[in-house]
Amino acid sequence: MSYIEKNLLEVNKKIDEAARASNRKTDEIKLIAVTKTYGADLINEAIDCGVTDIGENRVQEIMEKYDKVNPVRWHLIGHLQKNKVKYIIDKVELIHSVDSVELAVEIDKKAKKIDKIQKILLEVNVSGEESKFGIEPTNCIDVCREISLLENVKIMGLMTVAPFTDDEELLLGVFSGLKGLAEKISQENIKNVSMEELSMGMTNDFPLAIEKGATMVRVGTGIFGKRDYTK
Ligand SMILES: *Cc1c(COP(=O)(O)O)cnc(C)c1O
Repeated sequence: MSYIEKNLLEVNKKIDEAARASNRKTDEIKLIAVTKTYGADLINEAIDCGVTDIGENRVQEIMEKYDKVNPVRWHLIGHLQKNKVKYIIDKVELIHSVDSVELAVEIDKKAKKIDKIQKILLEVNVSGEESKFGIEPTNCIDVCREISLLENVKIMGLMTVAPFTDDEELLLGVFSGLKGLAEKISQENIKNVSMEELSMGMTNDFPLAIEKGATMVRVGTGIFGKRDYTK
């Protein structure tokens, strides 16, 4: 058994355990294998082992790998610049990292051109760290209302990146903060806005995110091992 296969078994087991522990169904939680810095060969190996969804955080990497990777759903999970939307609009299942109305307007425009309704998540800076992208929680409802008027994008839920820490209380606070925000937005009953997806949790913290309601976990290191950014 390859290490990728072994790691995937381990990650899926943890997802299953975390789901059971909080009385949730395992199939409510989708594993997004984060493939940034890894080449097409390793990605294809993961796909052979059952991975159906992969996450990349740079447009450039998606473009370099797209033709070499076997059929799979692509997720953009990193910061997206408006002038790069055109390169990925025909390639991605879900954009997790929409952090402004202006970006959503650009996505709408490019999606319209290819007759697509692009599913998106709003990235929220729940922790308030200055280094992080994302909408301020207090602005989220207004942003949802504005984006909801666009015909070729559909908000499916929220995403956050938690601080890199092993402080469990802090992490649980961030994850329940995102969940609470999604519930609040749901109650507004905004047309064309769904809050069914919560993308939160990475290698370091995904069991805690599942405990607080994650429907998508983004796991890289836990599957592929430590990344080498020098390549
Ligand atoms: C890299 C990355 C991940 C995965 O991180 P790991 O700690 O390797 O699991 C998840 N989400 C985003 C936005 C990332 O950039």
